[in-house]
Amino acid sequence: MRQVWISEFWRLTGIGLVALLAGLVAGYAELFLLLAVLGYLAWHLVNLMRLQRWLAEGEDAHPPVSSGAWDVIFTDLARMQARNRKRKRKLTRTLTRFEDAAAALPDAVVVLGMHDEIEWFNNAAQQLLGLHWPQDVGQRISNLLRHPAFIEFLTAREYSRSVELSASANADVLLAVLVVPYGNEQRLLVARDITRIRRLEQVRSDFVANVSHELRTPLTVINGFFETANEDATECPPDWRRPMQLMRQQAQRMQNIVQDLLLLSRLEMEQPSRVEIVMVPELLEAVVLEARALSGARKHQIVLDVDRELGLRGNADELRSAFSNLVFNAVQYTPEQGEINVRWFRDAEGVHLAVSDTGTGIAAHHIPRLTERFYRIDAGRSRQSGGTGLGLAIVKHVLNRHGAQLRIESELGKGSTFSCDFPLAALVHLAGTQ
Ligand code: ADP
Repeated sequence: MRQVWISEFWRLTGIGLVALLAGLVAGYAELFLLLAVLGYLAWHLVNLMRLQRWLAEGEDAHPPVSSGAWDVIFTDLARMQARNRKRKRKLTRTLTRFEDAAAALPDAVVVLGMHDEIEWFNNAAQQLLGLHWPQDVGQRISNLLRHPAFIEFLTAREYSRSVELSASANADVLLAVLVVPYGNEQRLLVARDITRIRRLEQVRSDFVANVSHELRTPLTVINGFFETANEDATECPPDWRRPMQLMRQQAQRMQNIVQDLLLLSRLEMEQPSRVEIVMVPELLEAVVLEARALSGARKHQIVLDVDRELGLRGNADELRSAFSNLVFNAVQYTPEQGEINVRWFRDAEGVHLAVSDTGTGIAAHHIPRLTERFYRIDAGRSRQSGGTGLGLAIVKHVLNRHGAQLRIESELGKGSTFSCDFPLAALVHLAGTQ
């Protein structure tokens, strides 16, 4: 590069010298020198003009041919243009490939702009969401998908959750819609057909409900016989006593499992439960009374601390089942004479039930899985204490149905706190209703 400018310098010096010599010979040294400089300037001007014309002609025009520094400039610019053209072609190819891939996705994909206006959508969006290409481009998605649940979901801008709605074109098709934010306030709406998954879930849930239902009657009969047959009676042969006792316990366990499975199936059904005003303080008093009976000779210190003004809008049977599971677990998993605290209170965020114990505690890696069905840290211990492994799954379902959340804090060897966080919207002030 430097070489070019050195040559250019010598070219200018050469022109100057030749003009000066010629001028000296002719007797007009200054005039010849001036003419030479003007000529050099004119050459630059012409090349500048050719450069401008070439650039104006567009990328496909051939670069002008020149000499010296201008030749190098034209060649470099042409090379740069060729590189850009290649890069652009590559980018276009990549973009087309992405567009083709997105268009072929079985899920509906819609690119939304800053104001929820549609910028692009794929083929599946036409079928599942009933969008029309290209008429609907630029339209606000909320004008085209008018399901109230979807509008609420879109305006809430809570991207961690998804919403389920039926497809515009076919009401039998169920869609799960989620929104993924990206780039400069842009959002990607993705809708997936979950009809098959839901149907399978329904089949599984019906199967469990049917099996549990079918097992209930034989188990009731067996347990009935065990209740009348007394293994301690004198007519019972001594070697039968232990097996009889074990059979009675196991039959009772089976009945508990069947009962819990039936309750879970009921909770899983879509119908919302009957909503009433639940006198939570009284409900908790009854639960704590039962917990004291369960504790029996193990003499736990069970303390109840309730705000008597706080009630809930919800289903009393479901809430009793959830609360008693938590309090009975605290009794089961706390050693003799341990402390159990049951608190019912409110704060700025909501209304809470906190059941704390000074029991065995739970290692952190177990906590996220505790609400899975039949997940037990120590299966032997759970069975021994009559646990079904379904208690916390029931708690989670009941709380979900009440818009509440289960929070578990625990330290191994120190104890645990299971909290149910209800939204303020579910709160009922009992002072006026009592
Ligand atoms: P289970 O019928 O076995 O008690 P749950 O679903 O109620 O079933 O609880 C699942 C598991 O969580 C239990 O087996 C136990 O290991 C653990 N767990 C529940 N509550 C407590 C608690 N208060 N302290 C320690 N571990 C607990």
